[in-house]
Amino acid sequence: MSIEIAGVSKRFGDFVALDNVSVSIPSGRLTALLGPSGGGKSTLLRIIAGLERSDSGRVEIEGIDATDLPPQKRNVGFVFQHYAAFKHMSVRRNVAFGLQIRKRPKDEIAGRVDELLKLVHLEQFGDRLPAQLSGGQRQRMALARALAVQPTVLLLDEPFGALDAKVRKELRDWLRRLHDEVHVTTVFVTHDQEEALEVADEIVVINEGRIEQIGSPDDLYDRPANDFVMRFLGPVT
Ligand code: ADP
Ligand code: MG
Repeated sequence: MSIEIAGVSKRFGDFVALDNVSVSIPSGRLTALLGPSGGGKSTLLRIIAGLERSDSGRVEIEGIDATDLPPQKRNVGFVFQHYAAFKHMSVRRNVAFGLQIRKRPKDEIAGRVDELLKLVHLEQFGDRLPAQLSGGQRQRMALARALAVQPTVLLLDEPFGALDAKVRKELRDWLRRLHDEVHVTTVFVTHDQEEALEVADEIVVINEGRIEQIGSPDDLYDRPANDFVMRFLGPVT
């Protein structure tokens, strides 16, 4: 099982954002989609999520052809850099939201929300409003909300990009531990080489709408596919 991207292209006017991209993202692993700004990372993630349509090609998610499925039928959870929480709802109600709109029974929702808050270490904060959380805590709430509906795939677009370096590092370690607990197939967009190398099992390097390489952090360092990858990763520190 995997996320299979086959021959996906996307243009905005004359500009080619994705140029015949084919890549296989392995199931159950934490994969970083790494590349410079403007490389096509968010566009590819949005196409996997169904938030954007590709001009051509196919997207398969865990064995299901998702190319023509709307986002809500893809069973994906997302977290973005600037998380749009419901400001007037408690943390609890924010996390419960996806379950409520799916009309799950009340006691099932309550139990599941307890579990999720514990998973992201916010069990003390359920009654607060999002504004009463730190930036790092808010992104953990966003993760709990994305996981609430038990997605087969978790998609994160520069989720820690707006936070300061220390919190970013904490959340990075924390995402790694969370992934080791839940093992959900995760695709994590970042332009930060160090972040990708530290957190990911696999790294997909994308630049100017093309995949430059896919491999483990060690593969990329030991056998960079081309000059771009070598330069972009920089010296090992
Ligand atoms: P990344 O996330 O790697 O920084 P994006 O996928 O956001 O890159 O964008 C890739 C390229 O496509 C950029 O040059 C961007 O300006 C362009 N682009 C993205 N979305 C749109 C859009 N809706 N309209 C026009 N151009 C876009
Ligand atoms: Mg982006």
